[in-house]
Amino acid sequence: MKRALVTGANRGIGLEVVRQLLMRGYEVVLGCRHREEGARAVKAWGENARHLSLLELDVSDEKQVLCSAKVFSQKFERLDVLINNAGVLLDRSESILSVSEADIVATMNINTLGPLRVTRAFLPFLKASDDARVINVSSLAGQLKTMGAWAPAYSMSKVALNAVTRILAQELASENIKVNSVSPGWINTDMGGPEAPGTVEEGADTIVWSVDEASLNITGEFLRDRRSTDW
Ligand code: NDP
Repeated sequence: MKRALVTGANRGIGLEVVRQLLMRGYEVVLGCRHREEGARAVKAWGENARHLSLLELDVSDEKQVLCSAKVFSQKFERLDVLINNAGVLLDRSESILSVSEADIVATMNINTLGPLRVTRAFLPFLKASDDARVINVSSLAGQLKTMGAWAPAYSMSKVALNAVTRILAQELASENIKVNSVSPGWINTDMGGPEAPGTVEEGADTIVWSVDEASLNITGEFLRDRRSTDW
């Protein structure tokens, strides 16, 4: 049974990714900042949660991430899939000329450094898998080709996250660990808002496809609607 860890999975796209992976027969570790929030989110799942466990994981804090990896190691030796999904959007209606440095730093810390520090902390477990995959949940807001002025801190954090994907893909190629970015689309969640056209099922689709069905050779790519897109 393949084992996956999803960060920021107590709501939104992350929670749906957990649900779909369980349906596909994965053992899933649901990462969440607050254990009670994770437990509340899956309370109604009953029998479907048989292969699910919760892991307290705040991606903003290196010490906490290392501590979570230690807790993980008390139960598991191997991780096949890491989905770096946790993210924040703090500057939805800000201009790059006025967004606070504090918000830029906080956004970069969670959206860019978060996935990097979780990948580094869980690397020993990924190396123990013979088909390890890392997905960084990015955004079209981080696509340079179509870059606008919207949410500058968020957009910069996702561009930098895409760079993390490219560099990690190179670095980990010799370990046979695939690393890709995924744009989930504009999805109706707390972050996406009620006007968003996409459902969480649609938001989770390419993420789950890329770990469960995509060609083994895909790495260092930016994926959207089950295919590669421009950076
Ligand atoms: P939500 O706001 O619904 O959920 C965000 C999740 O991230 C929550 O579980 C939240 O936990 C968690 N999180 C935030 N900060 C941290 C942290 N420091 N440590 C651990 N977990 C944290 O967002 P979505 O589900 O919409 O977004 C998921 C991903 O998809 C994000 O990376 C986002 O950038 C990306 N995305 C979303 C789009 C959309 O339209 N919805 C579009 C493009 C990309 P808590 O409940 O504790 O706050």
